[in-house]
Amino acid sequence: MKPAHYVGGAFLAPTGGTESAETFPLTSPVDGKERGQVPEATRETVDAAVAAARSALRGPWGSASPEERAATLRAVAEGIEARFEEFVDAEVADTGKPRELASTVDIPRAAGNFRAYADLLYGRAGDSYTTAVPGWSGGKGQALNYTVRRPLGVVAVISPWNLPLLLLTWKVAPALAAGNAVVAKPSEETPSTATLLAEVMHDAGVPEGAFNLVHGHGAGGAGEFLSSHPGVDAIAFTGATSTGSAIMRGAADHITPVSFELGGKNPALVFADADLEAAMEGTVRSAFTHSGQICLCTERVYVERSVFDRFVEGLGARARKLSGYGPMISAEHRDKVLSYYRLAKDEGATVVAGGGVPAFGDERDGGFYVEPTVLTGLPHDARPVREEIFGPVCHVAPFDTEEEAVALANDSRYGLAATVWTSDLSRAHRVAPRVETGIVWVNCWNLRDLRTPFGGVKASGIGREGGEHSLDFFSEPVNICVNIGE
Ligand code: NAD
Repeated sequence: MKPAHYVGGAFLAPTGGTESAETFPLTSPVDGKERGQVPEATRETVDAAVAAARSALRGPWGSASPEERAATLRAVAEGIEARFEEFVDAEVADTGKPRELASTVDIPRAAGNFRAYADLLYGRAGDSYTTAVPGWSGGKGQALNYTVRRPLGVVAVISPWNLPLLLLTWKVAPALAAGNAVVAKPSEETPSTATLLAEVMHDAGVPEGAFNLVHGHGAGGAGEFLSSHPGVDAIAFTGATSTGSAIMRGAADHITPVSFELGGKNPALVFADADLEAAMEGTVRSAFTHSGQICLCTERVYVERSVFDRFVEGLGARARKLSGYGPMISAEHRDKVLSYYRLAKDEGATVVAGGGVPAFGDERDGGFYVEPTVLTGLPHDARPVREEIFGPVCHVAPFDTEEEAVALANDSRYGLAATVWTSDLSRAHRVAPRVETGIVWVNCWNLRDLRTPFGGVKASGIGREGGEHSLDFFSEPVNICVNIGE
């Protein structure tokens, strides 16, 4: 499978049609070798995709009933499931992530995203009505108010490389469910499963132009062409906070609404009364799953002082034992993560586990691996404690009081997800709402019910995804007020 643009129901060969011959190489993070070429969308390709989406809204897709849209989403879910192994292979090849992760999380969740929104459409079928308000003319008037939800129109979906298909479909499914047409741009590092998705859409009979796909880079490329496009009615973006700022600047000219899922510097609070073994296991998962390359991963751990040494020792031992982990997505990202390891050491950190590059003695030595790393001893204002690293690393610091723990957690520009470990029920419910993040897990990490609101506060995002929250973003409530007075 070669990455290709999909515009107006047709796959564009990199050299054909309006497309220029420009491509860029795709590199394997596992061994650093080139795996193929990806087409780079020109401004004309993006224009064509936006125009195709617009005309889909005027065609059969624009007049499809909720039931027809739900049937389409189900057909897409089934299409993904029918080619499950191909999707898993493509995701593993692009990201280097463990196969188990792709086959138990990424691909099943991608299919699940379409099913979830097919189901939700039925729950939403009725419009909400309110009746009989006093009119404006001396109390004699009567009005019938009701609300309809209208799709926004052409929606741009821009997604990152860490959970490529899962995060793309997490936006595409509700956008289509709500009746929009989509132009999607996956990360330039991970174009493969998005291309397979376009094939599935094609085979499932999704009407021409309802789903379009363009590949290419962000700044100065397809991402920027798309997010600043005057024909785009809304932007749903997941990625880095700095990219969110850039997209917002481009969107500002057209007052284009945005939904943003951005970076994090997620805290975990471990109280002395917690089940410490469970907290250690949970923190190993939350810090090192997908080598720390999930926006929800823990990078700051605060532990009550009386159990600090025991916790650090247990966490370090577990981190040292980890094997079978995947690489960083690129050489550039590996270098960024390693620069934080160096900085931490320069600033006097104690390296409890990891801190360097593993030597495997096989082809992986050409890949972009870094060791799972546990640090202690940095001041709270050190850059490795404040800035998102997005690698397999956490810094552990002690606290003395509940008040201090909450203050440390909240002293961050980010506010995506937090984890609280305690066996004191009152404390759990007291602390959780005070932590300034969009998601707080108590005695668990990354348990997700797709109906719940998902998103961050502060520099971690704008808006919420999940269940009805996504449908709310992807549609506008319209008040219709009918004079029913005599
Ligand atoms: P990124 O911001 O570099 O890229 C994300 C996407 O944006 C890519 O498709 C890229 O091509 C595009 N892009 C880049 N610059 C652009 C521009 N100027 N205009 C338009 N598009 C542009 O992020 P990444 O490195 O792919 O992913 C890692 C980041 O994503 C981390 O910061 C992580 O925390 C964040 N993330 C957040 C969530 C969440 O749900 N909050 C989930 C996953 C990842």
